[in-house]
Amino acid sequence: MNREAKSLQTIIESKEISGRNLEIATKVLNNQRISTEDAIYLYEHGDLAFVGLLSNHIREAKHGDFTYFNRNFHIEPTNICVFTCKFCSYSRLLKHADEGWVLDKEQMLDIIRSYKDKPVTEVHIVGGVHPKLTLEFFCDLFKSIKELRPDLHIKAFTAVEYEYMFRKAKVTVEEGLKIMMDAGLDSIPGGGAEIFDEILRDEICGDKATTAQWLEIHETAHKLGLKSNCTMLYGHIENYAHRVDHMNRLRELQDRTGGFNTFIPLKFRNQDNEMSDVPETSVIEDLKNYAISRIFLDNIDHIKAYWPMIGRSTAQLSLSFGVDDIDGTIDDTTKIYSMAGAEEQVPQLTTRQLVELIENVDRHPIERDTLYGVITDYKNYDFSKEDNNNGFVELPILN
Ligand code: SF4
Repeated sequence: MNREAKSLQTIIESKEISGRNLEIATKVLNNQRISTEDAIYLYEHGDLAFVGLLSNHIREAKHGDFTYFNRNFHIEPTNICVFTCKFCSYSRLLKHADEGWVLDKEQMLDIIRSYKDKPVTEVHIVGGVHPKLTLEFFCDLFKSIKELRPDLHIKAFTAVEYEYMFRKAKVTVEEGLKIMMDAGLDSIPGGGAEIFDEILRDEICGDKATTAQWLEIHETAHKLGLKSNCTMLYGHIENYAHRVDHMNRLRELQDRTGGFNTFIPLKFRNQDNEMSDVPETSVIEDLKNYAISRIFLDNIDHIKAYWPMIGRSTAQLSLSFGVDDIDGTIDDTTKIYSMAGAEEQVPQLTTRQLVELIENVDRHPIERDTLYGVITDYKNYDFSKEDNNNGFVELPILN
């Protein structure tokens, strides 16, 4: 029995808790699934220490102290977008294209080339939905990336981008994904899920892929053998029942396919968007949300805190509230959250800094590949053997 299991059992036996709290704690200790009503109860009545204890119990039962990260970089081909999500601080409409950017194929390949001989394992490609960036264009790009770096894992495009691309190309979801996989697609990130409740979705992002389409694309991907991640945008106009409904739809899909690697709660940020009047959630609410997602999503292995979005200190704290993954080195290659007012305006960490961030809260840093294969165990790692640069494994910084 692990440390957390003992303390959970002690608390149950000591009768310090009772009623619904006792029922939920007993389920967690016995590895039983909690219900949607239990999850809503935890949001409404569970205090932070209690949900923290339950979530840390599950986190340590699944992963011990292991805390995962990867060495990745992002390519954002464009921030021009045909859609008009109210919470988005990042995109520009075509008529304001002069305020945005569109990278051509050679510019994107130059980014890939700039990582030559660097120990990155993943390129993460997402951006706006540009009407002229087609399925054919991206297939050609993927093939060229694989020619340059066959070892690089391509994790690309949200279900929202695919829905538009496939519709324009007049192919089915299955046909489109197969074409992408033949070109080099290795897995799918979890963005674009936002909130699944149809009424709220219509209110905040009604013109893009529907809930049913998002779920269909991921389910089809899983059936074709692709792994994907999933997300939830929280802390805007939704209530707790909406959050639990969202996670329940993910849990049900995962029961059918087992294809999700990781759940990533995404905090709504209110800078420079049409929802700037909506206040942001507190750190306590953020931690509680991580914890309850860890407790509820019993069939998804990993919970990720995206450190550029919540900042390094909260990311460290989250490791005691169910989170076991804090994403990657990123290397200042994403603008999605910095443009929305996130804590990290210049998101980059060296591998050593990321390792220290994890070790400073007594967790065990593991560099993983995209699919959670272990690349390097960084416990007591001697950085001086890696290079002559004062022990740092620096990655290039893109401007
Ligand atoms: S969130 Fe995505 S789909 Fe929506 S406007 Fe922004 S870039 Fe476009």
